[in-house]
Amino acid sequence: MPADSEPAPPREGRCPRCGKRFAYASVKAHKPFPFCSPKCRNVDLGLWFREEYKISSPLQPGSNEDEEDPPEGDFDDGTGR
Ligand SMILES: [Zn+2]
Repeated sequence: MPADSEPAPPREGRCPRCGKRFAYASVKAHKPFPFCSPKCRNVDLGLWFREEYKISSPLQPGSNEDEEDPPEGDFDDGTGR
């Protein structure tokens, strides 16, 4: 029996989102890795974004101090002709 062309054995992972076990051939083949499905991945990403939004949103909007005006000017095309 030739052993040089044996297929990679399926691996088993556990979804960090729902805790479901799933089999995957490889990380590359399994797009939503390390999650079991794109759904779980999206849910997790959604939570991440929300957390980030909450954290990065200013506590007191409306404080105008330390505000810089953006530099005004005509920009060259940059073609260098
Ligand atoms: Zn899952």
